[in-house]
Amino acid sequence: IQWEKQVRTSAQIHRSGGISVLVTGATGFVGSHVSLALRKRGDGVVGLDNFNNYYDPSLKRARRSLLSSRGIFVVEGDLNDAKLLAKLFDVVAFTHVMHLAAQAGVRYALENPQSYVHSNIAGLVNLLEICKSANPQPAIVWASSSSVYGLNEKVPFSESDRTDQPASLYAATKKAGEEITHTYNHIYGLAITGLRFFTVYGPWGRPDMAYFSFTRNILQGKPITIYRGKNRVDLARDFTYIDDIVKGCLGSLDSSGKSTGSGGKKRGAAPYRIFNLGNTSPVTVPILVDILEKHLKVKAKRNFVEMPGNGDVPFTHANISSARNEFGYKPTTDLETGLKKFVRWYLSYYGYILKPSLYINGDNCFSNEL
Ligand code: NAD
Repeated sequence: IQWEKQVRTSAQIHRSGGISVLVTGATGFVGSHVSLALRKRGDGVVGLDNFNNYYDPSLKRARRSLLSSRGIFVVEGDLNDAKLLAKLFDVVAFTHVMHLAAQAGVRYALENPQSYVHSNIAGLVNLLEICKSANPQPAIVWASSSSVYGLNEKVPFSESDRTDQPASLYAATKKAGEEITHTYNHIYGLAITGLRFFTVYGPWGRPDMAYFSFTRNILQGKPITIYRGKNRVDLARDFTYIDDIVKGCLGSLDSSGKSTGSGGKKRGAAPYRIFNLGNTSPVTVPILVDILEKHLKVKAKRNFVEMPGNGDVPFTHANISSARNEFGYKPTTDLETGLKKFVRWYLSYYGYILKPSLYINGDNCFSNEL
């Protein structure tokens, strides 16, 4: 009863025309930011997360505290728990699902292939089964990935470009997710939007990602490993700041249209959409390190290594005209500005003693903002 009450309260909408959203992966990096942004504008938000230990779960618990301080309840549970999901949909008639829970990372898949199948395939199907039977059926927006472009060398990547050369099991499960969601769209009339995120970074980010682990190593005086492609070509990524991704997520939720089925029956044509959400200006990894050095005021010990051929792609670059035309997506934060905000958060979160050398342009790094 207590649990149901918390879920109901959290799902309450506080603006006219608002939506009630189930956010999976709510204590993850992107999920926590999206949940806060939805709540801020008055939408109902209920989170779901299994708090797995792919990276430090204390960071997920800290994000949960932040969500809880804004009245957002996060249910601890797994996507594969059909009973739990059914109960959630019994308690709340969600209008939308923002599906961000997944096993992320490309190299982890070499040692833990099953966890990608568990979360990104089986968990996705379980969620879609519940959504298909819900009445009303929610519109679904979910995170695919730029990794589906794989070894495609034609840049910038457009949504209609080939996605048949995944370079990792992670990419393969995201590509499979696109096929699976498309099937549920045309069989059951579920409105589906897939978002191909391009390397998202920012405060409260993921410790397994390069910009984050580089920051940690640079501050600890440890060397950092920088991968390079063949002939010493630098890798480059279309690094996209979290606030821009959040705007893209909200824009796509608002324009996602309605599911047309109900109780598992198809009624009419519901929209199926795929959008790139990137920044449209790729930056090489050594330049990323230059910017970090500048903000941290510490020199990195760079260790260049040839890229192992087991997951990474050399280059990503998004064409974002579809998202721009459909819901006005327009990234506004460049890497220099975004990393400055990340570094401030990092120094604050990890309690670095405020030394003059750690001031960034004289600003106080300890203003914990989100
Ligand atoms: P994240 O790992 O911080 O968040 C994912 C959350 O999902 C985690 O909190 C995890 O505990 C939870 N989760 C995983 N499996 C689950 C399961 N079976 N049941 C319930 N909860 C589960 O990752 P993120 O960076 O926030 O990524 C969000 C989404 O965006 C993911 O789908 C990811 O694949 C995708 N994506 C992220 C990036 C990026 O650069 N961050 C790029 C492309 C795509």
